Amino acid sequence: MKERRGPGGAARGLEDEVALFKKRTRGSARAYERARRWTVYGVHSNYRVLDPYPLYARRAKGARIWDVDGNAYLDFSMAFGALVAGHSHPTLVAAMRERVANGTIFGFEGEETEKVCGLLCKRFRVDRVKLSNTGMDATMYAMRFARAATGRKGILKFEGCYHGSHDALMAGIKPTREKAGDPRRPNVVPASTGLTPGAQEFTYVAPFNDLAATEAIAEARADEMAAIILEPIPMNMGFVLPRPGFLEGLRALCDRLGALLIFDEVKTCGKFYGGAEEAFGVRPDLKVFGKAIGGGYPISGVGGRKEVLDGVEPGVLSHAGTFNANPLVVTAAHVTLEKILTAKAMKGAARLGDALGKGYTDILADRRVPGLVQYRGISGALVFAPRPITDWRSFLDVDVGRWWGYYTAMLNRGVVPMALGPDEQWTLSVQHAKTDVETHLEAFDGMAAEIPAFRVEMPIVEAI
Ligand code: PMP
Repeated sequence: MKERRGPGGAARGLEDEVALFKKRTRGSARAYERARRWTVYGVHSNYRVLDPYPLYARRAKGARIWDVDGNAYLDFSMAFGALVAGHSHPTLVAAMRERVANGTIFGFEGEETEKVCGLLCKRFRVDRVKLSNTGMDATMYAMRFARAATGRKGILKFEGCYHGSHDALMAGIKPTREKAGDPRRPNVVPASTGLTPGAQEFTYVAPFNDLAATEAIAEARADEMAAIILEPIPMNMGFVLPRPGFLEGLRALCDRLGALLIFDEVKTCGKFYGGAEEAFGVRPDLKVFGKAIGGGYPISGVGGRKEVLDGVEPGVLSHAGTFNANPLVVTAAHVTLEKILTAKAMKGAARLGDALGKGYTDILADRRVPGLVQYRGISGALVFAPRPITDWRSFLDVDVGRWWGYYTAMLNRGVVPMALGPDEQWTLSVQHAKTDVETHLEAFDGMAAEIPAFRVEMPIVEAI
């Protein structure tokens, strides 16, 4: 990976912040040296790479996280949106102690699993659900189910959307403008080495928020189209709201083509009580759940119409996994859905999130800092770009170096302001308090005047 993530040592206008970061995080520097003896870059997800070295964490509670040097941070990454419940919610901790003492994997189905499935089906308005562990495996199953149900192969995804790192959808994620080609007919650019071209033979890429272009691409392959998959709010290029009518248009397009509409709700299922359908009023055929539903434990699932999900059959349509629906994650999801991510708690968190977004907007205006905030409810993103981000091509104009300056300066002030990278967003949890939002905004206000001086040339795009 040649791509740099972070300001490193040679950042103009940022030397003081980088020097301070290094002074505060000597333990992380040492942890990095130890870790990279065994593991390249010292991390187990490329998204955790940070230059000059990643932060290594030791513990976390509520809205706070501590690194190995003992520095405390107010956490607004919340593990890339996986922790809407907050770190180690006391209700969850009590339930998990009991669970750990009574079996952590059975190799049989547990009696509690049915309750979690009932909660998911009612909350997200689906007939059936099949559980697994990560967003990656669940989007892969959703695709397979759609192909099996339609007897077709083609999957259309959107440029800039990410659905996990399995081969078929590792395309058109962060392509350079040059490789991506015509904005209205994007090339299918592989996002990793090690993929066979065949793996993406039936993957098509369209521009998000451009219904006419998407229709043209899908209709040119009308007989092949098994499904359209999308993040209803793309959150791997910041925080991009769908234009009014876009989701409705995709619904109608899928109906015309006889293809399935798949909402990858790995992130959105934790942003609104009832997920994207509640927010936008559009019902897809399949929904993929992940991250927040487990309260910090790895559980995911595909939900949807029974005609599609009931196609799963031993020896016919495969769905399997040793750790699928293990009692640890099932108990975690049960407690999280029933007792922690309640409609009331999520409404409270959304109000705080809106206050954070508004606070950023005001500070940017007061301090005359060239930046934009895109937000709704518990999540949002600060971007340094000449115009709002509506799709991948507009994201390509983001000033990546300036963002890393902002991020480093905020870490130095004890706030993890968003998840790692300008393509991410902040997430508030039900354990965040009004004072946490105020502290976050004070830290931003304290460093905002530095932003124009951060000049670091840095690409966001893939290095292959
Ligand atoms: N879908 C979306 C929308 C995601 O944001 C992610 C991860 N950030 C995934 C799928 C993959 O999930 P996981 O990392 O749990 O495999």
